[in-house]
Amino acid sequence: MKINVLGAGPAGLYFAILMKRADPRHEIAVFERNHPDATFGWGVVFSEGSLDELEHADYESYVSITDACANWNPIDVRYRGTSTRIRGNVFSGVGRKHLLSILQARAAELGVDLVFLREVDSLEPYLDADLIVGADGANSFVRHTLADRLGPLIDLAPSKYAWFGADLAFPVFTYIFRETDWGLFQAHCYPYDESRSTMVLLISEETWQRAGLDQLDEQGSLELCEGVFAEDLQGHRMLSNRSLWINFPWVHCRSWHADNLVILGDAAHTAHWSIGSGTKLALEDAICLARAFVKHRGRLDPSLAEFELERQPVVERLQQASRISCDYFQSLQRYFTFDRLQFAYQLMTRTPRVSHTNLTVRDADFVRRVEADFAERATGRAGYAAPPPIFAPLHLRSLTIPNRLAFFPRGAPLDQGAGLVISGLHAVSPEGRVTPETPVGISSPPPDGPLVCLQIGHAGRRGSCRQSRFGVDRPLPETDAWQVVSASPIAHAPWMPVPRELDRQGMESVCIDFVAAARQAAEVGHRMLMLDFSRGGLMASFISPLSNRRQDEFGGSLENRMRYPLQVLNAVRAAWPPELPLAVAFSAADHVKGGLRQSDSLAAAVMMREAAADILLVLTGQTTFDSHPEYGRMYGVPCSDRVRNEAGAPTIAFGQITTLDEVNTILAAGRADLCVLDR
Ligand SMILES: Cc1cc2nc3c(=O)[nH]c(=O)nc-3n(C[C@H](O)[C@H](O)[C@H](O)COP(=O)(O)OP(=O)(O)OC[C@H]3O[C@@H](n4cnc5c(N)ncnc54)[C@H](O)[C@@H]3O)c2cc1C
Repeated sequence: MKINVLGAGPAGLYFAILMKRADPRHEIAVFERNHPDATFGWGVVFSEGSLDELEHADYESYVSITDACANWNPIDVRYRGTSTRIRGNVFSGVGRKHLLSILQARAAELGVDLVFLREVDSLEPYLDADLIVGADGANSFVRHTLADRLGPLIDLAPSKYAWFGADLAFPVFTYIFRETDWGLFQAHCYPYDESRSTMVLLISEETWQRAGLDQLDEQGSLELCEGVFAEDLQGHRMLSNRSLWINFPWVHCRSWHADNLVILGDAAHTAHWSIGSGTKLALEDAICLARAFVKHRGRLDPSLAEFELERQPVVERLQQASRISCDYFQSLQRYFTFDRLQFAYQLMTRTPRVSHTNLTVRDADFVRRVEADFAERATGRAGYAAPPPIFAPLHLRSLTIPNRLAFFPRGAPLDQGAGLVISGLHAVSPEGRVTPETPVGISSPPPDGPLVCLQIGHAGRRGSCRQSRFGVDRPLPETDAWQVVSASPIAHAPWMPVPRELDRQGMESVCIDFVAAARQAAEVGHRMLMLDFSRGGLMASFISPLSNRRQDEFGGSLENRMRYPLQVLNAVRAAWPPELPLAVAFSAADHVKGGLRQSDSLAAAVMMREAAADILLVLTGQTTFDSHPEYGRMYGVPCSDRVRNEAGAPTIAFGQITTLDEVNTILAAGRADLCVLDR
């Protein structure tokens, strides 16, 4: 085959090496705009296992790369004048220049034709080959030229980052958080040889502007940052090399090939640098593509199809993790009230790839200290060791919930070990039922059973439906139906009845029903109550702009839309015994265009907290029939995290939390106070 590779980064060089190894008769040329040893950037870091695939793909370059790597296992987190070390995280780092020189030498040794100082500004001169490979990085010219065939989507992360070096070797991978008058500066630092380190700096756009970095040249920005990190540099200097402040570009493509052109590495997809996987992905792309060509004996169509089929899901998973990591670093100031151990724990478990158990395997002593601290915050008793966070009690007013698991019984026996059982919905009036079977009267809690939190609410426009075994949101036949009400006359789904807009008198009467139900619950001995303001019910219909189009003081702004739910909350609080806790279940995200904005959802949570809601069950979606959150693993936890740490309200997390390990991780990282375990 004749192969033209455009771009001599890790992806292009490694693909050329592997193809030449597979068959020395291939005629391969690599074209690169830069000089062989001119490279932007400093060192790259590989996490544990990243290099394993290279060993089998090309042992010679694997040995050279691993020999050139600096290895370490602790991570230091410098935060608010403290430094916390977490051990057991095997990492290696290598200078990017060094990595490229190893790959260049290996390619040359195998007979690849390396052409430097060649700017590719047209595809024409390269089209005479059987295969053209676009390995020209995140700003790929090839991808841009073939945009209509590859369907690229590029969006920019809101924060600014710049890739600097330093003339000192940090002892280990070090995260540094420095608060300045302009705002927070973060540095992610790792050594890549015995005397130098990479320092990737991350700041918000506002901090960037306040610090005047938008006005400074490269030298000016270097000096400013040296000042910010002076204490960490200990007299050493930061280094720059085209270290410009940019927004990270997220690259996604519908397809990675068109005819005999294929794109690889950053040209096809990017993964945020904070999970240190871009180079690994680029090299693995090259391995996968070369393997497909060997398997299909150089036939283009099956090779390119197999490459995409095999790689796209793997890359998507890593991109997803890197997006979570990027979001985390952009919003971590919300955790600045945490003590240092919990802050470091939160950082380590920022993506679902690292859990409580993984971390225990890495550094058992660190996790022991985190657990002891958690138990001390929960019980006031300090100890050397404590059981995992699930077993810590939670105090709400005079009530003690014995452990951190919550549970929806849905017909199952109540006593399954959870500290709190959340009952199904009890309607506050017959019109507030979801189906004819929804209970209206309130019976006593079981005498010796577990603690039950009684949930009361009004189904609003989602009422008058058949039992859920006939399907969700299936209206009753007309003969059995009752008139449903809502904030505005907008049906929940096109096949459901249009509700009547609730007037003042109706609102007053529903509020009285809520209060009566709360009084009755207290009388029969319930000790915890939850108001349902979620999933398209009557109260939720007032909160979401999708279902509330009222022109009076209960519609329009968030303050207006919250007015009625807060009146009900206040009235119930006044009627419910002051020593007993009151919870609210609310939908923190609509997951539909035009729905509740994130800032409004947080403001609503603050209002409920201030109206004396003791804990919020944070739910997402179901506001309208077409609202579908991505029901992935732990899908509701990011919302719970935001509500807890930005609105300052204790939370119950819900949404595909299926293991006790996940529960421990969520609790210890401060993303929720209780978790609903899915069965
Ligand atoms: C701040 C930062 C930190 C990072 N840290 C890490 C890390 O720790 N670990 C990690 O694994 N990854 C890291 N990465 C990501 C990593 O650098 C990339 O994912 C990886 O280099 C992608 O390899 P590639 O070969 O696809 O593209 P690139 O490395 O970008 O190579 C593309 C090549 O094509 C050349 N080129 C581009 N356009 C043309 C043209 N028109 N004509 C000729 N030549 C052209 C370029 O000069 C370049 O040499 C980091 C990235 C950034 C920005």
